[in-house]
Amino acid sequence: MSLPPSTFATDLPAQHASLASLFGFTQFRGGQQQAVTQLLSGHSSLAIFPTGSGKSLCYQFCAVHLPHLTLLVSPLLALMKDQLAFLQGKGIAAGSIDSTLSADEQRTTMERVRSGEIKILMVSVERFKNERFRQFIESVDVSMLVIDEAHCISEWGHNFRPDYLKLPDYRAQLNIPLVLLLTATATKKVKLDMAKRFAILPEHIVQTGFYRQNLDLQILAVPEQQKAHTLLQLVQRQQGCGIVYVTLQHTAEQVAQQLAANGVVAKAYHAGLADEIRQGVQQDFMAGHTQVVVATIAFGMGIDKSDIRFVVHYDLPKSIENYSQEIGRAGRDGQMSYCTTLGNLDGLHTVENFVYGDTPELRGIEHVLNDIRQGTQVAGDAQLTEHQRGHQWEVQIHALSSLSNIRQLPLKTLLVQLELLGVVRPQYAYFADVRYKFLHDKAEVLGRFDAQRQAFLNLIFQHTDFKKVWGSLNFDSLFAQTGSERSRVVAALEYLQQHQLIELQTKQMTEVFQVDVEKLNQGQMAEKLYAYFMDKEQKELKRIAMLVRFFGLDKCLSHNLSRYFDDQQAPEKCGHCSVCKGQVAYLDVTNEVPAIDSHAVAEAMQVLAKHIQQKQEHPPSADTYCRFLTGMSTPLFTRLKVRQVSGYALCAQVRYGAVKEVVSQILAQ
Ligand code: ADP
Ligand code: MG
Repeated sequence: MSLPPSTFATDLPAQHASLASLFGFTQFRGGQQQAVTQLLSGHSSLAIFPTGSGKSLCYQFCAVHLPHLTLLVSPLLALMKDQLAFLQGKGIAAGSIDSTLSADEQRTTMERVRSGEIKILMVSVERFKNERFRQFIESVDVSMLVIDEAHCISEWGHNFRPDYLKLPDYRAQLNIPLVLLLTATATKKVKLDMAKRFAILPEHIVQTGFYRQNLDLQILAVPEQQKAHTLLQLVQRQQGCGIVYVTLQHTAEQVAQQLAANGVVAKAYHAGLADEIRQGVQQDFMAGHTQVVVATIAFGMGIDKSDIRFVVHYDLPKSIENYSQEIGRAGRDGQMSYCTTLGNLDGLHTVENFVYGDTPELRGIEHVLNDIRQGTQVAGDAQLTEHQRGHQWEVQIHALSSLSNIRQLPLKTLLVQLELLGVVRPQYAYFADVRYKFLHDKAEVLGRFDAQRQAFLNLIFQHTDFKKVWGSLNFDSLFAQTGSERSRVVAALEYLQQHQLIELQTKQMTEVFQVDVEKLNQGQMAEKLYAYFMDKEQKELKRIAMLVRFFGLDKCLSHNLSRYFDDQQAPEKCGHCSVCKGQVAYLDVTNEVPAIDSHAVAEAMQVLAKHIQQKQEHPPSADTYCRFLTGMSTPLFTRLKVRQVSGYALCAQVRYGAVKEVVSQILAQ
């Protein structure tokens, strides 16, 4: 298969022959041929096909025919492993570098990439933060960068992943000529945004139809109290298996129990369950032993079961994009499948609170900037260890999240923004806490090595503080005396661990950034970043408003869903959605929202202020009060055990905006 790309790119019979011999497929599916031809002709492309329609084949086919490595970035380990298994089954050499591999396995994979044996390498986007990985990729020839679930790159998208924003820069730095972006869900805005960031021309965007004739969309306006009953009726009417989506973990448990109590084989699935339990639930579902999985959004990506007959949204989905991906799991076999949403507006404030709770406060952003300043100032001191020299800043995300009161995801977003502004640049990451215990006698361990290595190991052992069995490595004292580099020390310990001479534990992932102090101190930095987050909040709230509008539409749902994703080909009227059948849903709030008792609110605010004062923190801001009253969880509340303070979640049923109005009035008095 070493035809020169230039002729092969347009030689359709040769491509078909290759498709059959490599994959055993008789023909390309919609969009695949165009994408493949473009890529093999050297044009970066964006492919938007619905879930299950074969996006992966576009890169898999090309990778075999391109001269050098194809590098795939995937947001989920499970997706990577599925694709690896598929490729292995077809006898195509592919590998991944991920957290499940040992250092040895990683090295082997890298050697196989270097030798040209592996043509497809899969990694997570976080892998690029590692300077050594970047150096490795720079040292091999890469033909194509593929980004799976590429909508993660757009702030307009529904699953924005801050680290994806750096991919265009990485591509430029690593000199990768060709890019392929893959996604199932992109609005026009997201599509254009993605294409622009990778300089993909409009004619190289390949989009297949979005409309799926075998999905019967139905929206029922159901009061909160009747949902459980309605769901049971729906499920009992179904023959095949299905997924019920809910917003909260405890709802998943509760609904699964209710169904089970009525004789339905139903299991809950959410991120709060242990890995083994989750895997068990998924396997039973795939094997057809469990009829219904009641799940949060944690269940889905990578579920490739062709005969899912129904998907019920017990609560409103998070966004139209989520909705479309979730119903997209039904009916992959082309058989009629039912997608029902049980709608009312009772849960709307919960969905909105996810958004509000992720916006950092200005003072939180200032805290982070000050942390960088202080860390960087110290770095001038000559006495310091290798990690602190130069304009370097070290951060442990968990600790900084707690102290700045910014949740981890937005904190990561903040760091990416600082990186894009040129204020920080990631260097490497290491574990601050290295502990080990001997599995054999120390003398016996040393006895296995030559004199020079013995001396080096002895130094490490001497600079370890042993308490009974376990010892913590005191890297600073080791470094001060010997100047040994951390990487060499850690490599030695890893070696001992691999040969089962010690048991090694590493904790407290610490990321090290290079800091541009001048840029850091530019005026209004905190305000600029705050404005970015406020803008993001507005975008998210708008998306929720669009969602509510969608479910109340009085025109064909299938048509409008397709149009939302810029597919103009869908029929005006599908004839089988609930609106086409004459049932427009009027969503409303079913449970009367309690009026805000401003006396009780003022009292609760005082209690919180006192609690926080006792802990010697800054007085609460308006947003802190609102988060307290609406019952959100924030890093600060966790640290100060605020959940137990009386008044917490006093206004849990009220929308954030309304609470904020009252709080602002009280603060202005
Ligand atoms: P997507 O990423 O678009 O959701 P996948 O790439 O996972 O979809 O493909 C879904 C399934 O379709 C896979 O099992 C894949 O092997 C199969 N497939 C892809 N292309 C073809 C083809 N041309 N002919 C037959 N099956 C195909
Ligand atoms: Mg896919």
